[in-house]
Amino acid sequence: MTSIQDILKTMDYGPSPESQKEALAWLEQHERRFGLFINGAWSAPSNTFASFNPADGKELAQLTQATTADVDRAVAAARAALAGWQALGGHGRAKVLYALARQLQKHARLFAVLETLDNGKTVRETRDVDLPLAARHFYHHAGWAQLLGEEFAGYRAVGVVGQIVPWNSPLLMLAWKIAPALAAGNCVVFKPAEFTSFTALLFAEICQRAGVPAGVVNIVTGDGEVGQAIVNHPGIDKLAFTGSTEVGRLIRSATAGSGKKLSLELGGKSPFIVFEDADLDAAVEGLVDSIWFNQGQVCCAGSRLLVQESVQARFLAKVKARMDKLRLGSPLDKSMDIGALVDPVQLQRITGLVEAARAEGCEIWQCACELPVSGSWYPPTLITGASASAAVAQTEIFGPVLVAMSFRTPPEAVQLANNTVYGLAACVWTESISLALDIAPQIKAGVVWINTANQFDAACGFGGYRESGFGREGGREGMYEYLTPLAEDARPDTPPRVVKPEGSGKAAALHASCGAFDIDRTAKLYIGGKQARPDSGYSRAIHDAGGAFLADVGEGSRKDIRNAVEAAHKASAWAKTTAHNRAQVLYYIAENLASRAQEFAERLQRMTGAVDSEREVQASIERLFYYAAWV
Ligand code: NAD
Repeated sequence: MTSIQDILKTMDYGPSPESQKEALAWLEQHERRFGLFINGAWSAPSNTFASFNPADGKELAQLTQATTADVDRAVAAARAALAGWQALGGHGRAKVLYALARQLQKHARLFAVLETLDNGKTVRETRDVDLPLAARHFYHHAGWAQLLGEEFAGYRAVGVVGQIVPWNSPLLMLAWKIAPALAAGNCVVFKPAEFTSFTALLFAEICQRAGVPAGVVNIVTGDGEVGQAIVNHPGIDKLAFTGSTEVGRLIRSATAGSGKKLSLELGGKSPFIVFEDADLDAAVEGLVDSIWFNQGQVCCAGSRLLVQESVQARFLAKVKARMDKLRLGSPLDKSMDIGALVDPVQLQRITGLVEAARAEGCEIWQCACELPVSGSWYPPTLITGASASAAVAQTEIFGPVLVAMSFRTPPEAVQLANNTVYGLAACVWTESISLALDIAPQIKAGVVWINTANQFDAACGFGGYRESGFGREGGREGMYEYLTPLAEDARPDTPPRVVKPEGSGKAAALHASCGAFDIDRTAKLYIGGKQARPDSGYSRAIHDAGGAFLADVGEGSRKDIRNAVEAAHKASAWAKTTAHNRAQVLYYIAENLASRAQEFAERLQRMTGAVDSEREVQASIERLFYYAAWV
């Protein structure tokens, strides 16, 4: 009898290209030159730069490098549109978001092909993943807009939002950013990555068709300088950035002290952990999805394979066999698994990192696929023999490169998984639910997938911690990134300092009544549940708003900070206590704060001169209750 393997050998996998006719016609319709979309209108293209098709290196069109004056205009248009957009109400905005979702579906193939031409990822991915998820995001957020009044009572829109995204999933990143911002009633100035701007520009067109009022969505194109102009613009109330940790750090320091709300979705070096009892064939398929999806240019790519020593050889043999079956070629061919890298710069970076690993003695295994002669291509690659501290095991490569290491015990797996500065995602593969539930909470990552990979949904918040950033996109938690509690409006921007003469007012009464500042007190440090004298042996004088001496407090040293960090690590059992227990502790703290509210308010008033310290304490109590409710 003929086996299935024999039949497969006789089958011809001919090319199955998707037509690019409509996408090219759209570029032609714009004479392959694009301006900016500001205040509902297109500016004439100026100061242009070329955007290329990464699969063949040919120019697709010219894009405008926005100037600071353009960013000023975009921010002003967004500011002017705010009142009207908010006056539409939640229901009115829900209708517009719903229309945007429908428009994305109606033009799904045009968007998908355009994205493939621009980015180099396969049309299978743009068609089957990016587009459905982007549309789903707008549908989901139409729901939040509708429910805003009842679900987020006590909150208002932040205002004008600056949004900057990378090139790896251009339209999907746009949806993650723009949908929640609009649902909450904000207006946006959005900047796509310089390599991949077309789907954002097509989105601008559908905004016009879907009835998005002028100025609510503004799209400016260009490189990092345009990004900087948005970041530093005083008219921006919130920044939402997705990109490299390096740039995220710059943005964090540029916005510090500015009062701008900020969310950062940054890089990753995610572990893919395979235990010996895992379904190894399923894990191989999960791995393909995790590291070779979008040529590995995914923030949460499972780029570090950690496999239990007892099955390492067997598993790696299966991985290599599967890698040899991956098909690399024209991204518009529907039967391809691997497309092109976004730009020669990315190819150069990946090649540099892999060659450095080779020079360090690592073993490099690449599948024997033929690379097209023009464009930016890199074969799926497996690196073994790297130490846990090697650059290739620590640096985010952002390409189709997998680094494999082994572990012996579950604690060692956790230790290796956490041996990175990032904390975005992780995959755990085991047939034991107890093991999975024991391991998953110990991994420092925003998302842990069990026996699967890359599961995204608009209803589920996504984001990282540590050097992978902060803030969430999607779900209820993602909505808070675009809302401000009304209670914050009640606070003055800078607390007016009221200097009262000694011997009068509440502070003086406190002074006199409890003698708090008359006896010789030194406020110590609080580390590991105990009062501790500062290791430095120094104290620091604290003065009231009028400059009068209040008390000495301990001056913490580096050693104290180390002790405190160590104590926090030792207290990791806190994370394992039940949510119910943690909520009770938070309620208890709130209750204690409430019973001493007057004393706290008076101390705050004395130290800062703030006139509304009672409201400040009240707001803190409410916050504690709020978080207790969420635990
Ligand atoms: P990048 O940081 O170089 O660029 C991202 C965006 O920021 C681009 O639009 C760019 O023009 C702009 N930019 C560059 N310099 C800037 C500056 N100084 N100020 C303001 N804006 C500036 O990142 P990239 O190479 O385009 O994208 C790859 C990175 O994105 C990877 O590190 C990847 O992990 C990360 N990423 C993270 C997520 C996530 O959800 N955590 C998702 C996708 C990509």
